Parts: sequence; C-alpha cells; structure tokens
Amino acid sequence: MAKQQFEAESKRLLDMMINSIYSKREVFVRELISNASDAIDKMYYRALTDDSITFNQSDYYIRLSVDKEKRQLTLTDTGIGMTKEELESNLGVIAKSGSLAFKKENELKDGHDIIGQFGVGFYAAFMVADQVTVKSKALGEEQAFQWFSEGAEGFTIELVEKDDVGTEITLTIKQSTDEDDDFDQFLDENTLQTIVKKYSDFIRYPIKMEVTTE
Ligand code: ADP
Ligand code: MG
Repeated sequence: MAKQQFEAESKRLLDMMINSIYSKREVFVRELISNASDAIDKMYYRALTDDSITFNQSDYYIRLSVDKEKRQLTLTDTGIGMTKEELESNLGVIAKSGSLAFKKENELKDGHDIIGQFGVGFYAAFMVADQVTVKSKALGEEQAFQWFSEGAEGFTIELVEKDDVGTEITLTIKQSTDEDDDFDQFLDENTLQTIVKKYSDFIRYPIKMEVTTE
C-alpha cells in the first residue's frame, strides 16, 4: 500500500501543534467529540433538505470505549461519515476544515451548532497517540474506508468493512515512561468521564462509555 505524504507545511504544522498549540493533552477528547457532534449535526442538516433521510434523535450518539490490553481508545459516532476523498482531503491536509466548507455550502448563518472551523482539532489526537485509525462510511456510500497514520510521516487509506454510516476513530495511546507518565490515564474510564464532563458537557448528543471488564 503506497503511503501518501503530508504536505511539507503540514509536517511542520503537525510538529508545532503536537508540541505547542494545546496547553493540556486531555483536550484531544474535546476535539474528537466536537468533530463527532459536528458530523451528527451534518446528518441533521441533510435530513432537513432530503426527504429520504429521517433523523431520529435517539439513533445519534457518540461512544467511547477502552481496550486497556491493546492500549486503545475508540470514539464512535453515528454522524454523516467521510468518503475516501473526504478522508484524504479533510484529514490529509492540516488546516483544511470540512466543517467550514459545509457551513459555506449550506449557507449556515449564526445559530447553528457546528463547532469546527480551523481544521486542526483532529491532530490533537497525536499528542496522546502514536497510531490513529479512522474507519468511516459516508452517508449514501456503499463502501467504507480506513485512514491510518503514525504521525507526520503520512497516512494510508484502504477499503474496509463497516456496516453502519458514521466514523470510528481508534487511538493507540502512547506508552508512559518514567519521565512522562501522563498517558495511561487516557485508558482509564473514570478519568475519561471527568474529562468529558469538563469539556464536552454542552454537546447535544448522548456520550456513552463502554466499560470493558477483564
Ligand atoms: P475542524 O473541526 O475545525 O473542521 P478538525 O481538524 O477537527 O477541523 O477536523 C477536520 C475535518 O475532518 C472536519 O472539518 C470534518 O470534515 C472531518 N472530520 C473529522 N472528524 C470527523 C468525524 N468524526 N466525522 C466526520 N467528519 C470528520
Ligand atoms: Mg474539529
């Protein structure tokens, strides 16, 4: 599988971001949840203009689950999903906001809830993860695709199986070391719950958490 390269600017930006934009690592949770919420909002806006889509509030949620053994944190949403092209352009080009584009296309004025606009939030994941997998099936598409990256070196995209429309983001959390023991907490459900409450309390869709038992 050929690895596609980030643009040169993107590489520098990614390094800078990981090291300086965010004051606290834990805000990656806020960024990923806001993207999930935006994706569900987009489904809602599509349903307003497309009679073939019904939007039942209860079908839309964001789910967090932890696999401590694999050191993985997964965020699942039942939002609008991304096509192969969207995975490539929205996640492959830093500072490219699909949400800003969506707002322009749909001429959304003030009063909407879509949060994204700078096109950088997603990369906050690399503050805590050394591998990020984004599996997504877009509304109206037959096929689902998976974006995978280990950071500034680039990303791959491949065809995968996924039944439901929406996006599943899996972070492989970095190993804690003696000098930096900050990472393990992001695999702890209680800590995650506290972080979600702190930053994402205003989100309109339910945020569920699965607890895995050993
Ligand atoms: P922003 O949210 O400011 O647009 P991000 O870096 O957070 O920037 O995300 C970049 C783009 O990737 C989003 O605008 C959106 O188009 C797409 N995206 C990210 N996460 C998701 C998701 N869970 N579902 C659908 N699209 C997403
Ligand atoms: Mg965002």
